[in-house]
Amino acid sequence: MVDFVVNPLMSILAFLRAGYGYGRLIAVVNPCSLLNQEDLIREIINTTHDNYLMIIPLINGECNEALNVLSKVSAQYKVVNYDPGNPLSSLQDVLDIVNSRGIIVINISVNSLGKYVFSIVDEYCDNCGDCLRINCPAIQLNRKPVIDTKACIGCGICQLVCSRGAIIRIKVS
Ligand code: SF4
Ligand code: SF4
Repeated sequence: MVDFVVNPLMSILAFLRAGYGYGRLIAVVNPCSLLNQEDLIREIINTTHDNYLMIIPLINGECNEALNVLSKVSAQYKVVNYDPGNPLSSLQDVLDIVNSRGIIVINISVNSLGKYVFSIVDEYCDNCGDCLRINCPAIQLNRKPVIDTKACIGCGICQLVCSRGAIIRIKVS
């Protein structure tokens, strides 16, 4: 499992507590990191601020007990299946949810992992920063965000959050 973020729940909470009132907060949360954080999750979902999107990628069922934690704190969430190698199979479902608010659990098909890498087309990128907010270690900021294809596992999450269509998939030869 890729550890996308050091502690994204704390980051979301810090912004919400500070009365954050700008664009949507986006965080990708490692499901393993949810297992001992019931109080944080409860506080996030009980905030009156709903301008956040928490994406929980499940890869190969690792730490899927996180769903029990969400249920225990009565968090509303949706689950979609996603195959980064065949995004059209579930693209509309995923986009509907990615463009909304709240918690989405993305069940990522392992069949395609490692078969693709993702890359940013500079001229389509308007530097909005959404892909940086998912805190994937393969995405770094230069003048604009760039993806280190050697570090990319091909999960496709960055492509889902890029509403400009600037992130493309490349088959690994
Ligand atoms: S989300 Fe897309 S448009 Fe925004 S910075 Fe990333 S690549 Fe550029
Ligand atoms: S597909 Fe995107 S989010 Fe996933 S590892 Fe590669 S750069 Fe990171």
